[in-house]
Amino acid sequence: MHHSISNSGLWGHLPHPYRARRQATGYTPVMNATNPSSVADLIIHPEWIVPVVPRGQVLTNHSVVVTDGCITGIVPSNEGQRIQAIEHLNLPSQALLPGLVNAHGHSAMTLLRGIADDAPLRTWLQDHIWPLEAAFVSETFVRDGTDLALLELVMGGTTTFSDMYFFPDVTAQRIDLAGLRAQLVFPVLDVATAWATDGEACLKKGLALRDEYRDHALIQIGIGAHSTYSVPETTLRKIATLLNELDAPLQIHLHETQAEITGALDTHGERPISFLNRLGLLGPRTQCVHMTALTDEDIDLLRSSNSHVIHCPRSNMKLASGVSPVDRLLKAGVNVALGTDGAASNNRLSMLGELQMAALLAKLESLEATALSATAALEVATLGGARALGIEATVGSIETGKAADLIALDLSQPHTQPLNNIVSQIVYASNGTELTHSWVAGQPLVRDGKPLTLAPAEISARAARWPEKFKAHKASIDPTGNHLS
Ligand SMILES: [Zn+2]
Repeated sequence: MHHSISNSGLWGHLPHPYRARRQATGYTPVMNATNPSSVADLIIHPEWIVPVVPRGQVLTNHSVVVTDGCITGIVPSNEGQRIQAIEHLNLPSQALLPGLVNAHGHSAMTLLRGIADDAPLRTWLQDHIWPLEAAFVSETFVRDGTDLALLELVMGGTTTFSDMYFFPDVTAQRIDLAGLRAQLVFPVLDVATAWATDGEACLKKGLALRDEYRDHALIQIGIGAHSTYSVPETTLRKIATLLNELDAPLQIHLHETQAEITGALDTHGERPISFLNRLGLLGPRTQCVHMTALTDEDIDLLRSSNSHVIHCPRSNMKLASGVSPVDRLLKAGVNVALGTDGAASNNRLSMLGELQMAALLAKLESLEATALSATAALEVATLGGARALGIEATVGSIETGKAADLIALDLSQPHTQPLNNIVSQIVYASNGTELTHSWVAGQPLVRDGKPLTLAPAEISARAARWPEKFKAHKASIDPTGNHLS
């Protein structure tokens, strides 16, 4: 896609800092932990390391070695201090974690944040969101909304995210410029938009995008069937055939509400997950978003098919959709990941906030205070997400050989003091303002609390232009002003 999009302040047209310094200094290092004479890109010396693997471990007096985008060593600090590197970064009072994986969202919907709150899912979608999207969704809308989302995601500790929205070609370009890792599941649904006229057109455009990004290091393209109620059975059957041919991920909203399940029982005579199973759409690359109101049979189907559950607790609470029984799912051996969903139904894209909600809601849902411990919740938000997206060999934990997708959190603020328990402080006491540094594949996205690949003032200015347009539209179709609220 070629349209007039500003790229100011983004790495897309700039050399990467480490690469630039390498060129300037003539380094061509090959680094590994057993060869300390070579030169690393970066050695990080945090106060604590929470590697997620091994489970429950918190390291002190250790350093993480980063070379060519990968974690090439986790070594005692005194050893780390002696390794030659382009940069040594000391992070006092900060914890180093694997970057958070936000496994479900609709990033451009940040522009619709707050526009239709306090309405149930069906009303919210059909009377508010879909009409507005029909009127406004365009390449410019997706560009402005996605940039705002990326800024919020990055500053909240997300390094990998999954997105399902129209004009995924534009989203992919913005992600590429911002430097995050992503799974884009192009939307398939029978609702006409400026991007595509129907489900078939969605598939055609999406598959072309998948071809275009086949060799991209950080972006993978999958299929985002919206739901069993918005995609016709013929299209779902076609998707099943495609998935077999392509080995692509499938993400779908499933069992979001009891009403969805009741509707499917009326239409197909079976529950949505059984319907998907009959069509051959459950499997290890299937990501089921929401999964509330589950029976034991539903959980058996998830487990036996190795499908993944993407839990979106805040969205489920705000739309009064229901609760996913995360504790039961994990105990049954089902992989669970965490997602914020879009900003029109959350209304935050803070993975730290989501992590906290997930841990609290699991206890309320099961009436067991032991459900989804802080350690388990952090694993869901990192490794669980990586497993769901099929990239657990690359991200989700701080382990030698994995990509250097890392975040640093400042734990010196009043609300995280004193530090009786690092993981507990991060999960239960953080308020989302702790992020100081972020890297994806060793490239810095945030340094000392400042985003490096996204320009906040420009992004805010572009986003700020949209509410006027929505108001003018509302006045033009309903002078009484009752349309949106
Ligand atoms: Zn969603």
